[in-house]
Amino acid sequence: MTLPANVKTSPDYPVPETMKAWVLGDPGELTLSDKPVPVPGKAEVLVRIDAVAICATDLEIIHHGPPAQIHGGDPFNKNFTPGHEYMGTVVALGPGVDEYEIGERVTVEIHAGCGQCKRCRQGMYTSCHNYGKNYGGVDKGHRANGFTTDGGFAEYAVNNINTLVHVDDNMTDEEATLVVTAGTAMYGLTELGGLVAGESVVVTGPGPIGLMGAAVAKALGAQPVILTGTRDNRLEIGKQLGADHVINVRNEDAVEKVRELTGGKGVDYVVECAGAPNGVNEAALMVNRGGKICLAAFPHNSPEVDVAYLVRNNIYLYGIRGEGKTATHRAEAFMRQKRFDATLIHTHTFEMSDLKEALRYAKDRVEDAIKVVVKNKHAEAGKVAAE
Ligand SMILES: [Zn+2]
Ligand SMILES: [Zn+2]
Repeated sequence: MTLPANVKTSPDYPVPETMKAWVLGDPGELTLSDKPVPVPGKAEVLVRIDAVAICATDLEIIHHGPPAQIHGGDPFNKNFTPGHEYMGTVVALGPGVDEYEIGERVTVEIHAGCGQCKRCRQGMYTSCHNYGKNYGGVDKGHRANGFTTDGGFAEYAVNNINTLVHVDDNMTDEEATLVVTAGTAMYGLTELGGLVAGESVVVTGPGPIGLMGAAVAKALGAQPVILTGTRDNRLEIGKQLGADHVINVRNEDAVEKVRELTGGKGVDYVVECAGAPNGVNEAALMVNRGGKICLAAFPHNSPEVDVAYLVRNNIYLYGIRGEGKTATHRAEAFMRQKRFDATLIHTHTFEMSDLKEALRYAKDRVEDAIKVVVKNKHAEAGKVAAE
């Protein structure tokens, strides 16, 4: 491919002119199209995408639009490629990049803030004030691949070096796609106070972030870690990931059970990953006075919240967005040290060309699907050639 002279490539990883990429048309409508391979700029690299995990937020974007924001509006019919939980191989370096090498395996964070707003300057790049302002005359240089810029359901993507996490050789491609999920859970626990050793935590909702929340809380030394949910198979995985107690809310009153397990006081922290209509109120009843609640799910409705109870009991509420404060790097370090086995939440793998079927598995939870991963064939081809 004819890349600018200041973009570094290697004959080991030839970069083609065009690539296959899934493009979002009307809501729910994806088409496999040809797109030019993007060119990395300053502080950016070109990543050959090897594997991508499907996230509930991808389904939300594909069918409803937000939180994706393209050219200041919804993402439909704008030649936009979704997908944000991917990993791959660095194949080209933008001008001046010496932080990563061609051939290096990396997984990605989503948000590269503008670097110039108040929140970015504070290190809160997932709350960038210039979110989605990366077009035309308002270009602030913000990137959130799969949300405001092209994402991972393709063969290549451009990433800012600040969004890359080195992947250890011992980690499979599938496991590496889960680093950002664990990173999101890590960010939530960071915002709650960070050091949760010896403190008690409830995680509500055993989706991917909730399951990783239980795992990361345990790895951080929390005691006890209590996981609530409605599906026994997922709660069982939660136990294997580190939950000390699980509560199936279909059979037991979760608030009562949490109070019973904590001598009537409630826990120090609740990480709310269920997004249930009464989720905030129940979390408030599970947490002790002065405790903290992290909200990590997007509920569809506007739930009624008992504010007086929160005030009387000095309960803190934290909304978290994404995988801030470089939490992804700390999550990867835990995974590299095998502090928990994230692969327990990976249930299915499809080829990139079968993305629609993979999305159906994730959406309808076919065969108890939790994390569904799609892989590009070139990843397999590359491995065969290397052996
Ligand atoms: Zn996600
Ligand atoms: Zn910013």
